[in-house]
Order: sequence, then C-alpha cells, then structure tokens
Amino acid sequence: MSAFPQGLRRAIQLLARLPGVGEKSAQRYALELTRNLDLASELGAALSDLKLTVTTCQSCGNLAERRSGEPGICPICADPRRDPKILCIVARVQDLLAIERSGAMRGRYFVLGRLLSPLDGVSASDLPLAELLGRVSAMGPQEILLATPPSIDGEATALYLARELEARGFAVTRIASGVPHGGDLEFADQITLGRAIEGRRKF
Ligand SMILES: [Zn+2]
Repeated sequence: MSAFPQGLRRAIQLLARLPGVGEKSAQRYALELTRNLDLASELGAALSDLKLTVTTCQSCGNLAERRSGEPGICPICADPRRDPKILCIVARVQDLLAIERSGAMRGRYFVLGRLLSPLDGVSASDLPLAELLGRVSAMGPQEILLATPPSIDGEATALYLARELEARGFAVTRIASGVPHGGDLEFADQITLGRAIEGRRKF
C-alpha cells in the first residue's frame, strides 16, 4: 500500500473502517473510485451531506430527515395508522428495517443503539433506560415486544429490560426462536422474521 499516493492510502484506510469491508475490498473500492472520479465526487458529496440531512428520530431512535428548526421525527412515528398498543424494542436501526420488511409489525419502535455486553464493557447503566421509560410512559403500550437478536448479548439485554419493564407493570413479550441463535435479525429472511414476531410469547 505504501506504493499508493497518500490521498489514496487515506481513502483505503477510511473505507476499511466500514463493517464488512476488509483491507482488500477497501483497496478495490478506492481504486475503482480513482477510475471513476465523477462517482468519487458524488459519493463524497452525498457522504458529507449526511451530517446535514440525516438526524435521529427524537421519539424512537430511527433515522429521520433533518429539517432546520424542526425536531427530527421519522416516518414511522409520524404515521397515525401505526398501532400505539405495541412498542417493539430493537438493538439497531438495521433490525428495525429488517422487521419492517417482514411486514409483521404494525406497532411502533424504540431503538436501543446498543446491547449489554460485559466483554465490551457495556453495562446496564450504558443502556438508554430512562429514554425508553419516557417513551413507554408517553405512549402507554399494552405490549412491549423485545426484538433484540437471539445472541448472548441480545438475550441478556432482553432479560434485563423485561425485569425493569415488568417491575413497572408492563406486559412484555419476546420474539419466538426461529431466527438462528447468535444470528443477526438483519440477515434473517422475511418469512422467518415474520414468524418470529407472530409467534412471540410472554416473557
Ligand atoms: Zn421515530
């Protein structure tokens, strides 16, 4: 890589920081972009606009359009047809999108942004419990569905949240197994994920 000009090396280093992009792919993308400089400029402009055009939904943590002077509200929170009786808790925006694709959830969401992970130093105090409780009390759902992934961290988070929510009198459910253990919801097919939601059980 030291044979490359410095600007190209920098592009490769940055690309390699993306999830799932290793050194080799990063190099392939960067070299392709040097051959297609129009694409490189367009991509660069789109990426630097993200900061100006995208924000986090202040109700649920999903992504939302950023408009000056307005609080960010995502299309799901803004949709009055969504069922306010169910609140679905997910780890990441990608999981919300995967569940939306399955079509099995017509309720509303809350995105945690992280999972309990003692090995990575993420403890209960790092979870947005106060925000979640604020969302729950504003919405008053009849059911809170824990749709964290069926991994060790996802199960630990679900267990912790179930205890906190049940202690406050809320009915908590968990997605059914069927999504492969340790698997990412993002990569589960729509039918499997739809079944896991339809087959949810009381925690
Ligand atoms: Zn939202």
